[in-house]
Amino acid sequence: MTTEKAQGTNLPVHAEIEAFEVVDNSLVIGGQRLVDVASRVGKTPFYAYDRQLIEKRIGQLREGLPQDIDLHYAIKANPMPAVVNFIAPLVDGLDIASAGEMHVALDSGMDPREISFAGPGKSVEELTQAIAAGITVTLESETEMERACAVGSGLGIRPRVAVRVNPDFELKASGMKMSGGPKQFGIDAEIVPQILEKIGRRALEFVGFHIFCGSQNLREDAIIDAQQKTVELALKLAAAAPQAPAFINIGGGFGIPYFPGDKPIQLHEIGAGLERHVERVRNVLGDTKLVLELGRYMVGESGIYVCRVRDRKVSRGQVFLVVDGGLHHHLAASGNFGQVIRKNYPVIIGNRVESPETESQMVVGPLCTPLDILGAAMELPVAQIDDLVVVFQSGAYGLTASPLGFLSHPVPAEILI
Ligand SMILES: *Cc1c(COP(=O)(O)O)cnc(C)c1O
Repeated sequence: MTTEKAQGTNLPVHAEIEAFEVVDNSLVIGGQRLVDVASRVGKTPFYAYDRQLIEKRIGQLREGLPQDIDLHYAIKANPMPAVVNFIAPLVDGLDIASAGEMHVALDSGMDPREISFAGPGKSVEELTQAIAAGITVTLESETEMERACAVGSGLGIRPRVAVRVNPDFELKASGMKMSGGPKQFGIDAEIVPQILEKIGRRALEFVGFHIFCGSQNLREDAIIDAQQKTVELALKLAAAAPQAPAFINIGGGFGIPYFPGDKPIQLHEIGAGLERHVERVRNVLGDTKLVLELGRYMVGESGIYVCRVRDRKVSRGQVFLVVDGGLHHHLAASGNFGQVIRKNYPVIIGNRVESPETESQMVVGPLCTPLDILGAAMELPVAQIDDLVVVFQSGAYGLTASPLGFLSHPVPAEILI
């Protein structure tokens, strides 16, 4: 469905949302009409994630990417235990970035060796729990290497470690750059050989490299280019490793279309690039696995955020829909999670999807700050109190990426449907 009527002929519009059906003017999710889902949840606002869509997306990845690629799910995108439990049997591994995520990952039944723990500044307690569980620790600094070593000897366990590399190149056109230049992530590529040499002399088992350049990239050429540079860097560094790496984790970062003008990425193009990288790694290293760890791309499009209209007011000619949710539940949709210029997520009136009569409406939340906007001057069907406002593309970096305590409102519900 198109989410917003184009206001002018040349203005960019949101990409079509094809994943969800509309029946009797109502959005359908998980085979149920939105109003029934809202009754079932028992309150608004809520997040709903469609399990069929998650499964379909992972199927598309398996289909579009080389068979030899291992797929990991990066839990921070959506750590809801039901979601992680659903995904775990469909992927080859899980990536975590805290002890909290570690518990969710272990509870899912995933083999601990297929769980990797990245993130700067891991505490000794976190390292202890991870090493005791047999999880792969992704080292982000030399200090962390020493800590992992000390924890391992205390436990009588030889920790499995990977080295996170801060590469000497940047990912073009990435929404959020995480590499190149001085960074808090990883160990600078130029000192990695030194660290590898030290790992070889310590009671540590070196298992792989982790190189992640950035998030929310919608350009296939930029992704392919970064993956190629990543693989070449890993192959170069592998020469200094105590043993051939079991895996090279080349990160995630596949984007999804959020804003007017954004287009979905073409998976088969990236797949063709990866085919060459797999070949190259096989030729140089033999059976080293290439791993992709995706968060947003696996779950982002499967989820919606739903809130209810509490008030409809007109201020000097502009219609405002005041809803019961907002920035505190969905920071990213409010435009305050790393955006430079605020743009609208795709938004609809979920119980009047195709009503022909539209008007320009501001969708705002109940917080006492002008930043609390879910949709600015959007051309939407004329809405009334108690209607359901739906924000699409809300399956990743939604609930847990939001300042839930701000203004002390109740937290939203979450369902996997
Ligand atoms: C956040 C993160 C990911 C997932 O990124 P997406 O853009 O959601 O795919 C993968 N790896 C690491 C190390 C991360 O920090």
